[in-house]
Amino acid sequence: MIVNIHDKYRLTHVINMRGVFTPLGVSRSSIGVSNAVAHALAEHFVIDELQQIASRKIAEFAGAEAATVTHCTASGVTLSVAAAMTGISPQRIAALPDSTGMQSRVVLPKSHSVNYGHPIEQAIRLAGATPVFAGAKDQCTVTELGQTVAHEDTCCLLLVSSRLVSGEPLDFASAVSLAHKKGIPVIIDGAAQDMRIKELLATNADIVLVSAQKYLAGPTAGLVLGSASLVAAVRAQEKGIGRGMKASKEAIIGALAACEERSAEDAPAWAEMQAQKLPGFIERANAFHGVNAFTVPDQTGLPFERVHLRIDPDTAKMTASQLVAALKEGTPSIWVMDQRAAEGEIAFELVQSTPDEIETVLERLSDLLSKQ
Ligand SMILES: *Cc1c(COP(=O)(O)O)cnc(C)c1O
Repeated sequence: MIVNIHDKYRLTHVINMRGVFTPLGVSRSSIGVSNAVAHALAEHFVIDELQQIASRKIAEFAGAEAATVTHCTASGVTLSVAAAMTGISPQRIAALPDSTGMQSRVVLPKSHSVNYGHPIEQAIRLAGATPVFAGAKDQCTVTELGQTVAHEDTCCLLLVSSRLVSGEPLDFASAVSLAHKKGIPVIIDGAAQDMRIKELLATNADIVLVSAQKYLAGPTAGLVLGSASLVAAVRAQEKGIGRGMKASKEAIIGALAACEERSAEDAPAWAEMQAQKLPGFIERANAFHGVNAFTVPDQTGLPFERVHLRIDPDTAKMTASQLVAALKEGTPSIWVMDQRAAEGEIAFELVQSTPDEIETVLERLSDLLSKQ
């Protein structure tokens, strides 16, 4: 079926070694999740009833007090901020994004003001709120956060990301407790952190946001997890600015199916399966001229490692950036993590790849790196 779509519209065949990357369609769903989505598309439902069931089941899955589903995590950010401003007041919900007369400052560490496709500040401003930064671009301590958070703020937004956040990690539990002392709720954007939901909820954050389509491998959807009153206020935004950010029936059912599959999964066996992909890759990559291959654990604590290649341009006869471009230009087009290519290092995330794809990538590397 996938082959047909690519051929029918003459789309580029891609091997994704970049992780859960939105410009490449993020993740691959299982047959079970795909079937649930296909079934949902062909049926009618009472959407309120569906959202209620999803809320209950997803809250249970996450170990949260309450849950709801939005279009994606970016909309989850906007709607959680809106919820913190309006509560369930119909007048306030109708007024947004005009926030006149509402508390509307949203404090976030400057080091968390990332761009995941657009700047996160824009997701805040979309609700009519004003982002206020704490600390510096490469570092924000709990003390610096404390100096910025004030009683009249709406909420505090913190972010967890392997790739995007720079500097020393913030101690989330201390940050949350500090905000709570001033009566300010805390939202954590943990879009790719579905394997660490319980840990993030354990910081006592009021809302934790995760994407259903990242490692959870469901359809595009945002899971909003946390306090019953804020979750209800997020849901209430559907009659206001949330209309264009609502979850579709197929997204709700697909997200439910993905959570059910995750619950049934043997986590240690999954981690072991991921670990087994690494040694063969490392060994073969180390045999190429000018390549030093090694594994690096995920820095947020996700249970897998990535393969990094350091390229010595003199011996390899090409720079890391040239290798990235050559991998992308071939057929199939191979996309790798190139954030540090200018410094001579590229990375491969093997989580979503099949043995055939890994073989194709190693053969391509061999072709490109043996032409000397
Ligand atoms: C991917 C990502 C998002 C956006 O998630 P969507 O579900 O695509 O809207 C937001 N924040 C972070 C940290 C991300 O990694």
